[in-house]
Amino acid sequence: MNAMRNYRPTLCCDKLIPSIIGEEDNVLVTCTECGSKATISSRQTKDPKVSDLYCTCKNVHCGHTFVSTLSFSHTISPSAKQSKGMMIDMLMAMPKHEQQQLLRQADLL
Ligand SMILES: [Zn+2]
Repeated sequence: MNAMRNYRPTLCCDKLIPSIIGEEDNVLVTCTECGSKATISSRQTKDPKVSDLYCTCKNVHCGHTFVSTLSFSHTISPSAKQSKGMMIDMLMAMPKHEQQQLLRQADLL
């Protein structure tokens, strides 16, 4: 979960956009009102790549509760699982004689 470390709040339309800070066991977001740390009290998964995070600001003088959305953006390096599926798809798309030639080259036949 290194990608979740040390995100800084950013400004958009004069409002802070919540950002995720900390380690995977102690994930916090920034409060959109005061910029203090806020805890995630629950998470509602909308689909496998989008979740609503229910957050509460830890600043006792603020106490803002809010919902922030966590979403998948894009892949930087494909998962080993994706790579295997892609290789199988590519292999299955090849003509039979090319499949066999490739498998011979890999010494799998
Ligand atoms: Zn706050």
